[in-house]
Amino acid sequence: MSQKFDVVVIGAGPGGYVAAIRAAQLGLKTACIEKYQGKEGKTALGGTCLNVGCIPSKALLDSSYKFHEAHESFKVHGISTGEVAMDVPTMVARKDQIVKNLTGGVAGLMKANGVTVFEGHGKLLSGKQVEVTGLDGNTQVLGAEHVILASGSKPVDIPPAPVDQNIIVDSTGALDFQSVPAKLGVIGAGVIGLELGSVWARLGAEVTVLEAMDKFLPAADEQISKEAFKVLSKQGLKILLGARVTGSQVNGDQVTVNFTSAEGEQQQTFDKLIVAVGRRPVTTDLLAADAGVDMDERGFIFVDDQCATSVPGVYAIGDVVRGAMLAHKASEEGVMVAERIAGHKSQMNYDLVPSVIYTHPEIAWVGKTEQVLKAEGVEINVGTFPFAASGRAMAANDTAGLVKVIADAKTDRVLGVHVMGPAAAELVQQGAIGMEFGTSAEDLGMMVFSHPTMSEALHEAALAVNGHAIHIANRKKR
Ligand code: FAD
Ligand code: AMP
Repeated sequence: MSQKFDVVVIGAGPGGYVAAIRAAQLGLKTACIEKYQGKEGKTALGGTCLNVGCIPSKALLDSSYKFHEAHESFKVHGISTGEVAMDVPTMVARKDQIVKNLTGGVAGLMKANGVTVFEGHGKLLSGKQVEVTGLDGNTQVLGAEHVILASGSKPVDIPPAPVDQNIIVDSTGALDFQSVPAKLGVIGAGVIGLELGSVWARLGAEVTVLEAMDKFLPAADEQISKEAFKVLSKQGLKILLGARVTGSQVNGDQVTVNFTSAEGEQQQTFDKLIVAVGRRPVTTDLLAADAGVDMDERGFIFVDDQCATSVPGVYAIGDVVRGAMLAHKASEEGVMVAERIAGHKSQMNYDLVPSVIYTHPEIAWVGKTEQVLKAEGVEINVGTFPFAASGRAMAANDTAGLVKVIADAKTDRVLGVHVMGPAAAELVQQGAIGMEFGTSAEDLGMMVFSHPTMSEALHEAALAVNGHAIHIANRKKR
């Protein structure tokens, strides 16, 4: 055995690299193994999130939104620009530079914290040994007191639309189009489909989203998802619900997609097709047959609430285990596990993992929805405030959407904050901070909010829970 570590982490995504850094901070001798080769043909840390997920998608969303504003909304401010053009390769190159800076930054953080990075494929053997197959094919075996599996996820493929990364692409391919497709099809109206569909719609593509389910964004609060459907449709995203893709044929530079919907069998032809039907855990060649780590029925590594697997001393975190596939969930699990290995009693509050969809307006929430609480028989009070009544939103010409605060009718404790609107992700985070400390709607209402801010909409929605809103007529007066 070549080297022995306190902690060996497999995978350097936001779960793995954060776990490795925290473990090293706590004085544990830590190694992290990563196999991903970035665009420049070198090992790139940061996982899906930094390389082909959260960050590059947000870079394109921001660029495309600036273009959209220059094209569509500057004129209301009295700004004339002449013709506005988008140079797509420059936009994509800017995105690549951000990825390069951030992945390089993670490498620097690993070094600064004393984490030993191994470039190659990691595999858990029995007895908490980890085999590393380097890029040159040579193998070595590391000994570990503790192993953290953080191998992440990859896009789900569906037989009716096999990805060729040219005409039919997955989320990774959709980050690298070199021109705007005139007609773009998207399979799946989930977070990724809506975000990537929005990027290309803002740049002029005619976008059709085919979604098998009849319901739009079923995990979101129904009031918000209904509003979101209206607003996104008005922006030009053609979202077909109940449309299940059954086949596709690539003909030259186009693809014809077959789908069934309430109207029966249908066909549409697109210049590009993005398959965004979900992600699945990566466990290929991760575990030796005798490693002893159990998986659940869906192929995720089975873990308890503290991310311990069926093998003592072996943990798994992030997208490869149950729960939301979100970078911040992966990172917090990484911190929790590293701290527990170091002997702390750290826990993670899974009830308060916020969700965000970075469309414009953003859609975000934390806690429970009205429909879930009603199904659970919880008596609730609800306060809402529309951005149309917010001075800050009017000043910004950004008035679509609302804030909704849901509180327990008996205790007034806030159980959910749901927002569609400008800065929704930031507003929901304010709600999450309050909820972590057990805030009541009254507590939020008693706080002083700066004027004029988007956050005032959260303040007013919290006041509205008990009929005390000032800047909107209250549904209920007290
Ligand atoms: P990953 O980030 O997938 O990292 C796992 C790493 O392990 C990879 O680098 C992989 O190469 C490596 N690996 C796997 N197996 C091995 C092995 N055997 N040996 C060595 N290395 C291995 N989440 C958000 O919270 N916010 C967002 O805005 C957001 N946007 C997204 C947009 C897109 C387009 C996509 C695709 C995802 C987005 N996500 C977002 C999800 C987010 O990227 C993931 O939830 C997150 O990256 C999961 O982190 P992880 O560490 O579990 O796994
Ligand atoms: P998410 O898991 O949030 O990324 O969303 C993926 C979406 O893709 C889900 O809403 C699925 O219903 C949808 N989906 C999966 N398979 C198909 C299909 N064959 N045709 C259309 N939509 C699909």
